[in-house]
Amino acid sequence: MDRRSLIKKGAVAAGALLAAQASTGNSVAHAADKKYRWRMVTSWPPSFPILQTGVERFAKRVGELTGGRLTIQVYAGGELVPALGVFDAVSSGSVQCGHSAAYYWAGKCNAAQWFTSIPFGLDAQGMNDWFYFGNGLKLWEEVYSKFNLIPRPAGNTGVQMGGWFNKKIEKMSDFKGLKMRIPGLGGKVIGKAGAAVTLLPAGEIYTSLERGVIDATEWIGPFHDIRMGFYKVAKYYYAPGWHEPGSTLELIMNKKAYEELPQDIKAAIDIAAAELNVQMLSEFETKNAQALNELLKDKKIKILRFPEEVLKGLRKLSEETISEIASKDPLSKKVNHDFQRFKKELNPWNRLSEKAYYDFIL
Ligand code: CA
Repeated sequence: MDRRSLIKKGAVAAGALLAAQASTGNSVAHAADKKYRWRMVTSWPPSFPILQTGVERFAKRVGELTGGRLTIQVYAGGELVPALGVFDAVSSGSVQCGHSAAYYWAGKCNAAQWFTSIPFGLDAQGMNDWFYFGNGLKLWEEVYSKFNLIPRPAGNTGVQMGGWFNKKIEKMSDFKGLKMRIPGLGGKVIGKAGAAVTLLPAGEIYTSLERGVIDATEWIGPFHDIRMGFYKVAKYYYAPGWHEPGSTLELIMNKKAYEELPQDIKAAIDIAAAELNVQMLSEFETKNAQALNELLKDKKIKILRFPEEVLKGLRKLSEETISEIASKDPLSKKVNHDFQRFKKELNPWNRLSEKAYYDFIL
């Protein structure tokens, strides 16, 4: 081959390469230009601190991380769909994503309950361990797949409080006839102990407690409970929230909408969800601590712990309740089995790490 034809061949090859680069460049540019607009519905009231405000921060972060290629418009509970219509709205694809708590969907999907919190279950750290390095997220994806939903852990309340009581709880028999507002599995357990469980909407709890329609209520933790004013109408504030030791909040995405996204935007959502997961727990912990100090100093409320005997009794009833709901369908059985196995595996280490440390310093 002479020099001339070599140069010619080289020029052709270079030209072909340039053309290939140009066309790849074009398609990258095309995908990179495409803008996605999502709508997000939540179960929280407008501006509800920590929960709704956290979700709004998440949406903003996704916009920043994607350079505006995915914008998420957030709607609070009731603005677009009812607070408890989030699951159906995202599942059907009428909106692309939502923020809520999996245990609200127990009626549609029994196995969902383990992905928020179960009585005497894992705390926030344990839930994250299970999701990120155990089988938790894989199982959650499996449970939600037939609903066309992709879940991500996206926030945690930390250990909640046991609730506000106008009657002292010193032994298990004190639950007999107690009228308490407590939803979910906690309510089932208290019901087994002989309490009359009621489910009141948030707006009716205060006056019901004030008028003696109920003797007790649980809510969240000091920060949100102070805002509800329960310290003005209840004598005792009990710890710990055995029924919700680490309630995880969820980001749910419609599968079809999610699968249309390029890989880098999917990664940006994962990063923003993980950030929300960490920051929401930190915000809960910080603000609960500040609010508790306020209650301890300024309010005349008596803060008590459930006696050991009561916690043991509640744990026994919780185990019965969880076995019952786990036996309802094979998927719930599978999730519960993995959850319990994982918890058992964590226990010895938790006893020697955080518990041993806290036992000394606190
Ligand atoms: Ca609660």
